[in-house]
Amino acid sequence: MTYDLHTHSTASDGAYAPAELVRQAHAAGVTHLALTDHDCTHGVAEAQAEAAQCGLKLIPAVEISTTWHGKSVHIVGLAIDPDCPELQQGLGRLQTQRLARAEEMGHNLAKNGIEGGFEAARSLAGLGMITRTHFAQYLASLGLAGSVRQVFERYLVQGKPGYVHTEWADMKEAVGWIKTAGGVAVLAHPQRYKLTASWLGRLLIEFKAAGGEALEVVAGTASLGDIQSSASAARRHGLLASVGSDFHSPENCWLKLGRLPELPKDLSPVWSVWNE
Ligand code: AMP
Ligand code: MN
Ligand code: MN
Ligand code: MN
Repeated sequence: MTYDLHTHSTASDGAYAPAELVRQAHAAGVTHLALTDHDCTHGVAEAQAEAAQCGLKLIPAVEISTTWHGKSVHIVGLAIDPDCPELQQGLGRLQTQRLARAEEMGHNLAKNGIEGGFEAARSLAGLGMITRTHFAQYLASLGLAGSVRQVFERYLVQGKPGYVHTEWADMKEAVGWIKTAGGVAVLAHPQRYKLTASWLGRLLIEFKAAGGEALEVVAGTASLGDIQSSASAARRHGLLASVGSDFHSPENCWLKLGRLPELPKDLSPVWSVWNE
C-alpha cells in the first residue's frame, strides 16, 4: 500500500484537474490518496468519481491556512465530511479573504509598475482558489525572474512588493472545523515554518490541546534530517504520523507523487485511525 496524503489539484494551485491527478497518482502506484487543496473541497467529488473507476482509495481532505502567533501555519484535515456546514462556513470565510488579498496584491504590484496581476492571477486560477502561485506564474511569464521559485523570493514573500499579510483562520478554530467534520487534523510540513525547537514544541502542545492528532513527518520538502527530527517530535508529543508529497505539478514538485521515504517503523501512521 502506498499512501500520499497531501496533494493539490486545479481546485487550488495544482496543475492537474482532480480526475487527472487521481490517474497520475494511480499510475505512480499510489493506493491511498488525499486531495488537500488550499481552503476548499471543490475538487473532491470529481476525484472521488475517478478514484472509484481506478480502484484507488480517495480520502476527502483539505489544507487550511491558519495564523499562529503571526505565522502562517497549514493544517491538513484528512477523512473529512466535505458536506459539513461548519467546515464549509469556515472555508467560505477563507475563500473571501483569498479574493480580497489577491485584489490588494494586484494594487501593490501596480504601484510597483506591474499592471494586470489580479486579473491574470484570477484567470489562471479559473474556478479554483486564487493563490500566490498564480501570481508567481504571471510574474514569471513576464520574464521578471528565471523561475517560479525566484519570483516568490523577489516579489511574493514577506517584505517584498506583492506580499500582503493576512490573518487566516485561528489555528485552534481550524482544528475544530476538521473535528466537527469528522476528520483528523494533521500539522503540515513542520520544518517549513522556521521555528526554533521550543516554538515548535509550543505549537505542537497547543495543536494537540485543540484536538490535533497527527504530524506530517514525511513531507515533500523534508530532508532526511527533517524527517528524523519530526519523528522525534511526534514521539515526544504522542502524535500520529502522516506522509504526503505536497505535489503541485510535474515541473514544480519537490517529490513525485507517491515517491516518498518510509515512515520510521515505530511511529503510528495516521491511517491506523480510519483503518481500525
Ligand atoms: P498562498 O496560500 O496563496 O499564500 O500560496 C502559498 C503557496 O505558494 C504554497 O502552497 C506553495 O504552493 C507556493 N509557494 C510558497 N512559497 C513558495 C516558493 N518559495 N516557491 C514555490 N512555491 C511556493
Ligand atoms: Mn500550494
Ligand atoms: Mn502547505
Ligand atoms: Mn500543500
